[in-house]
Amino acid sequence: MSQSSQIFPWQRALWQGLIQRLHEDRLPHALLLSGPQGTGKESLARLFARAVLCENSGNNSLPRDDLPCGTCRSCLLDQAGSHPDHHWVGLLDSKKIIGVDQIREIGTSLSMKAHYSGYKVVVITPAEQMNLQAANSLLKTLEEPPSRSLLILVASHMTALPATLRSRCQRITCALPPQDAAVSWLEAQLTPGHDAGLLLALAGGAPRVALQMAQEGRVSQRLEVLDGLERLLRNQESAVTLAASWLKLELKEALYWMHSGVIDMIRLKSAAHPPRLVNPDMRERLQAIAAQMELKTLYYQLDKIGEASRLAMGQSNAQMLLEDVLIRWNERCSGRM
Ligand SMILES: [Zn+2]
Repeated sequence: MSQSSQIFPWQRALWQGLIQRLHEDRLPHALLLSGPQGTGKESLARLFARAVLCENSGNNSLPRDDLPCGTCRSCLLDQAGSHPDHHWVGLLDSKKIIGVDQIREIGTSLSMKAHYSGYKVVVITPAEQMNLQAANSLLKTLEEPPSRSLLILVASHMTALPATLRSRCQRITCALPPQDAAVSWLEAQLTPGHDAGLLLALAGGAPRVALQMAQEGRVSQRLEVLDGLERLLRNQESAVTLAASWLKLELKEALYWMHSGVIDMIRLKSAAHPPRLVNPDMRERLQAIAAQMELKTLYYQLDKIGEASRLAMGQSNAQMLLEDVLIRWNERCSGRM
């Protein structure tokens, strides 16, 4: 597992709240860190797990900045990714689901005695990608939680997580940071030449998504999607060939940019001067497409793209999914439905 862990400036209050519970011995058996993607939930979970296991946690004689000490045996093992009481359950290789075997394994580990501080911590992320069997298996653990155990579920799509699981966790919401704070953090991370404000807008306000976009050069793919939609509208390209060409971008990527464009078209259609656009630099082109569509059609498209994005998390055929969205797009645009 990756070892990067830090408290982002916008998480300080959440962090203090968590540490206070730890010091007062008021930790529940299960926490659910929820909130939009890109707010640093996994990093928070990783560092909090380390703090729970740190042998100097709550030791008032130490200079206290409320972070794990970084020097005790537990911290050193955890930094090396080999703490025997810290289990990290994530997606394996290219799999899109967390399977029941992974959850059963942690159930067994939790039922055994802790190796060190007395706590055993399990982080499950992205928790909403557990399949039904895995979720049911976790439910059994949550119904009879072993003592001195802490489960931290991390989820960006709360509604995809079964209500029976949600109701058994104490929920902590990791909200998007205020824009100013996010832009200054982003500017400090980026090399010169990037537009931090635009990146943040494109990432829906999530600073870590914005940073990743810049690092992976994903912004150029946005233009490819918009160009494609325009060609489709002008009947210069078919949905089938467009879907095939977009597969090089990855399905999620194409759907992400399409979704962001439709959100903006809805905003532009609903207000003459919408206060915020995801793609502020594309206003005119998006307005031109929106002018050819009815508002209810745009909402319909948004639903279809959302549906395809959910299916894309499973094992669906990417080409078929994209074709389906694009065919509907063209039919609706041309008023043929
Ligand atoms: Zn420590």
